[in-house]
Formats: sequence, C-alpha cells, structure tokens
Amino acid sequence: MERKRIYLSSPTMHGDEQKYVQEAFDTNWIAPLGPNVNAFEREMETYTDCGHAAALSSGTAAIHLALKLLGVGRDDIVFVSDLTFSATCNPIIYEDATPVFIDAEPDTWNLSPEALERAFEKYPHPKAVICVHLYGTPAKLEEIMAICRKHDVPLMEDAAESLGSTYKGRHTGTYGIYGIYSFNGNKIITTSGGGMFVSKDEAAVKKATFLATQARDPARHYQHSQIGYNYRMSNVTAGIGRGQLLHLEEHKQRKKEIYAQYREAFADIPEITMNPLNPDGDANCWLSCMTIDKGSSVAPDRVMDALEGVNAETRPIWKPMHLQPVFAPYDFIPHNADGSSVGEDIFDRGLCLPSDIKNTPEDMELIIGTVRKCFGR
Ligand SMILES: *Cc1c(COP(=O)(O)O)cnc(C)c1O
Repeated sequence: MERKRIYLSSPTMHGDEQKYVQEAFDTNWIAPLGPNVNAFEREMETYTDCGHAAALSSGTAAIHLALKLLGVGRDDIVFVSDLTFSATCNPIIYEDATPVFIDAEPDTWNLSPEALERAFEKYPHPKAVICVHLYGTPAKLEEIMAICRKHDVPLMEDAAESLGSTYKGRHTGTYGIYGIYSFNGNKIITTSGGGMFVSKDEAAVKKATFLATQARDPARHYQHSQIGYNYRMSNVTAGIGRGQLLHLEEHKQRKKEIYAQYREAFADIPEITMNPLNPDGDANCWLSCMTIDKGSSVAPDRVMDALEGVNAETRPIWKPMHLQPVFAPYDFIPHNADGSSVGEDIFDRGLCLPSDIKNTPEDMELIIGTVRKCFGR
C-alpha cells in the first residue's frame, strides 16, 4: 500500500465554514453579494485592523485593482519584489506598465532596502513600489517605508502569504497605502479561491468595490463611464472565509510549531539553515523552508527526491522573476554591490518543506528522519 500523501499546505476545514455556506443556501444568497460577503469584510477589518476591506475573487484581482487605484498605466515604472510568485507582477503587465525587479536581502528574503535605494538612483520616478512578505515573514517595512516616503512614492503590500503575520505589533498588509490578502487553496486560510483588498482610505475601498462590480454608475439603467471588472467574491465563498477566519490564529500557532520543530530537528546539521524570521515581527510561518550551505555535497533536489520517495510534497523556492522567460525584457536591481543576486542564491540552495497543519507527529518524524538521512545522520 502506498504511504499516505503528506502535503505542503492543503486546506483545513473545521465545520464552521459549512454553517455559513448553509446559511447562504437557506437564504438563497447564491450571488456575488450578500450577507456573508459584507460580514467577511467586517470580520477581516476587525482582525487585521486594516481600516476597510473589499472581498474579491482572488488575490491577483486585488493586486490589479490596487494598481488601477494607484493610477498605474502605460509605460509607468513599478518597483516590485523579485523573489515572489508571478501573480505579484502579472497585473503590472495587464496595465502595460514596466516592472523593475528589486532583489531580496538575506535577513528576511524580502525586498532589499539597499537595492531599492539603488533603483531610485536609476529610475527616480516610479509610480509605485510593491513589497511581498514571502512565506509569511514580514519585510523590513520601516526601512522600505522610509525610502518610499523620501521619494514620495506609494507602497503597496502583497500580503497574500502573510495573513496573520505582524510587524512591530501591526498586521502586514496594513502599512502600505493599499494591501492585499489571498485565500487561494494553499494559503494559511482559504475560501478555495478569493482575495481581499484593504486600505485605511474608505473612498479607495469603495472605488475598488465599484470597479470589481463592472463599474456600474449609480443610475437605474445600465450606465458605464469606466471599464469595470467582474472581480467580486461570491456569498458562498465568503461563507467559507468566515468559518476559516475563526481558526486563523490556531492555524498560525500550528504553522509556528511546525517551523520550530524543523529548526530544532536540524539544529545539529550545520549545512541546514531555516528560512529567516524578522525579529521585528511575528510571522505566520506559512511555509517552512530550508537552505543548504554552499559547501555541502547535498543538493536541494536530492532532499526533494527523498521526501517525494516517502510521498511527502515539497516545492522549490519561488524562481526569481528576473529569471523568468516572460519577464526577460525587464530590469533587475541586485542586492549585492558585485551584481550577484541574493534571490537567485536562495532559489539555488533552498526548498519548501511540508508545512501542512494536519501533519501528525508521525508525519513530522518521517519528514525529519528522511531529511536527516540525506545529510548522513
Ligand atoms: C498566492 C499569491 C498571490 C495570488 O493570490 P491568488 O489569490 O492566488 O490570486 C499573489 N502573491 C503572492 C506572493 C502569492 O503567494
């Protein structure tokens, strides 16, 4: 018999989700609006203290609308984290704007303030900066915000992976002028698919909601003065979100335990380093990742193959955007003065470990034992 699959990060439902979804069915609110959508927005506002929130069909849709609200258009330059998932950058291209990829720094694996400064020397007038909180670890927000302020350029946070993470006591996603969260299937909480646009600026959130519902002017007849989108979250989906949000803190605690367990289990193997946490923050530890020292004879592929051998799911680190064929025409600003890339080095030496909150003690023991064996332990 094949050993049961151990997942990287799969949905975990609790039953409360079904209650809210049932309510939607019972009241016939099977529509892209309704009481669950409104309640989910209010509950997210309370949980993150973000000000105002608009529930959308995906995190990518939220990023797209944030760019619309920032006025990003043809030939505008947008500075964006290089070490991320492509969804962070695709909406820049939807708007015919030009991404400039900013390297990661080694302390948090996020947008490098040093590279950001250098980017401003080369391109003094970008329209916006997009900063990601990779794998749930908060970026160096204070440094990044100071640079953005100095150059009078707005910051947008892609907190798709970091819902529940805080930086200096406040939630990631609430520092920039706009923030976004994702509820995709593999995220820390999920609605199967969905996203949230958040801001302290109530008018901006109203505008995002307007654009997300086909930009209908307030008239009895169908009248449109702008191009709109069909980006709203459905009332059924929002029901799942409401149920999940009740368990977000519990998911975060469990993710943190998994991270701590890996770190302790590999502490005696000097070639292994766990992904960094930001000492100024409290990370949700969405995915636990490790890097292998340069001198080691063990390659990440070997560890991933060994884990696949026991039916445990792994994943490489996100491949940096400046290495993606589709983004080849765009500029990249490295962190290191010698022109080498920190993100590329992390990609070459790293992997994501199974971080599913349903991992049993036996699963964890199997994963840990399998990794240790790769290093001759
Ligand atoms: C998942 C993710 C997104 C996209 O969110 P969707 O809800 O899947 O559209 C954007 N950015 C990052 C960093 C992500 O991990």
